[in-house]
Amino acid sequence: MNDKTPEGTITLVGAGLVGSLLAIFLARRGFDVELFERRPDMRTQVMSAGRSINLAISTRGINALKKLSLADEVLAHAVPMKGRMIHPQSGDLAFQPYGKDDSEYINSISRATLNKLLMTAAEQTGRVKIFFNQRVSGYRVETNTLELHDECANRSYQLQANVVIGTDGSASAIRHAMEKLPGYNVLQSELDYGYKELVIPPLSSGAFQLEKNALHIWPRTTYMLIALPNFEGSFTCTLFLPFHGTPSFDSLQTKENAHGFFMEQFPDAVPLIDNLEETFFQNPTGHMVTVKSEQWHIDGKVLLMGDAAHGIVPFFGQGMNCGFEDCTIFDELLENFRQGTSVDWKGLFHAMTQERVPNTNAIADMAVENFAEMRDKVGDKKFLIQKGVEKILQTRFPGRYVSRYSLVTFSNVPYTVAMEAGVVQERLLSELCSGLEKPEDVDLVKAEKLIDEMLINVRQKCSTVNVR
Ligand SMILES: Cc1cc2nc3c(=O)[nH]c(=O)nc-3n(C[C@H](O)[C@H](O)[C@H](O)COP(=O)(O)OP(=O)(O)OC[C@H]3O[C@@H](n4cnc5c(N)ncnc54)[C@H](O)[C@@H]3O)c2cc1C
Repeated sequence: MNDKTPEGTITLVGAGLVGSLLAIFLARRGFDVELFERRPDMRTQVMSAGRSINLAISTRGINALKKLSLADEVLAHAVPMKGRMIHPQSGDLAFQPYGKDDSEYINSISRATLNKLLMTAAEQTGRVKIFFNQRVSGYRVETNTLELHDECANRSYQLQANVVIGTDGSASAIRHAMEKLPGYNVLQSELDYGYKELVIPPLSSGAFQLEKNALHIWPRTTYMLIALPNFEGSFTCTLFLPFHGTPSFDSLQTKENAHGFFMEQFPDAVPLIDNLEETFFQNPTGHMVTVKSEQWHIDGKVLLMGDAAHGIVPFFGQGMNCGFEDCTIFDELLENFRQGTSVDWKGLFHAMTQERVPNTNAIADMAVENFAEMRDKVGDKKFLIQKGVEKILQTRFPGRYVSRYSLVTFSNVPYTVAMEAGVVQERLLSELCSGLEKPEDVDLVKAEKLIDEMLINVRQKCSTVNVR
């Protein structure tokens, strides 16, 4: 069988978070969309545990949803997380706010709730058809043909597309096909850490067992446990641990080992976690990979977006946010490359690649760096003084000093600008904090002078960047 996509219809592969959102953007611009998804429809079937139960949505993701008037509906299902709650091995909990004040926070949302909501919103446009249980097994660029397998009917077929956009995640079948072409460059590096999800259920009253409006972290230098709240009162805990060495997923082979390790390292979490030892061995161990593709498209035929183009480790909470920002920027660029019903797809895909690759590479690198901050530095005295000084600077010099974390999480400035600012801020903070015993003693006159120099420096370095 050889099918052909109707004239003018766009073919998307992967109805995850980014594919479903992109379908809505395209439909609102008047395009018909066919979306092929390998899994069953999660709105009608119970799905096995995915790769993360919940995730944090922040400004870039919310900005995309606002453009589609979906932000309020989505955020109604989210739990605000106003800061990190640090759980030391012994001693008191410590709360570190994320933003400059209460208006800045991140939001924990269930991946499934968000995905279902986006799929439904896509279908409600009347222009998007989602075909479930349809796995793309190959793609031929010469003819723009997808090879598909219908998982229910156990039947393979081909589909000739007009334009293909691969939103099929970090192990993208579309990218794998593109990688085989001469001159196509993809950098992939797998982290030598895995992750395991566990659950802290709500109390029988439905109440949360930990502070609800926080992302909880148990930092232990080379590994960590975190917990994000779920809307119905539970927390999803994630243990990030090396695959090999001691301790590691390799070294925790028995229920006794696992129990002993948790009792020693996370004693306050143990009584709260549901069925710890069983779940630890039942739940899969996830892998994390950074994917950097230098080229996101081939002519005007095929484009990659979301994790398919840029796999990011989860430590800045930005993978989905960045993928949603891809959609916002695609939508803005689309208008520049469209005349009536005709679109210069090649020009658009090229512009998209030029605009996004430096930025997605920047967030990929910052996400790897942030792992060290979360698992190690958040409990460190020097780091806490720097964070305290940073908070004072943000309040005393509003708009002139904005921390790298805030630029990434609470703004839409390009990630490259946030990264550049972070490098200069690191130097500035280390100069201001040298010998400092408490943040309040910071020399504000010196700070203002250094901030002015920093702004000139960052502006010069970023003068070619289009700051939105
Ligand atoms: C542990 C963890 C925590 C995270 N936390 C956060 C966070 O807090 N904040 C944040 O912003 N991001 C977070 N992320 C990253 C986020 O999950 C991803 O960036 C996001 O899911 C990317 O969306 P996507 O649509 O590009 O890919 P995916 O969500 O992977 O969706 C891809 C879709 O394509 C389908 N598909 C795959 N292959 C095929 C095929 N061959 N044929 C047809 N369909 C196919 C899949 O079934 C899936 O539906 C986290 C990731 C992990 C692993």
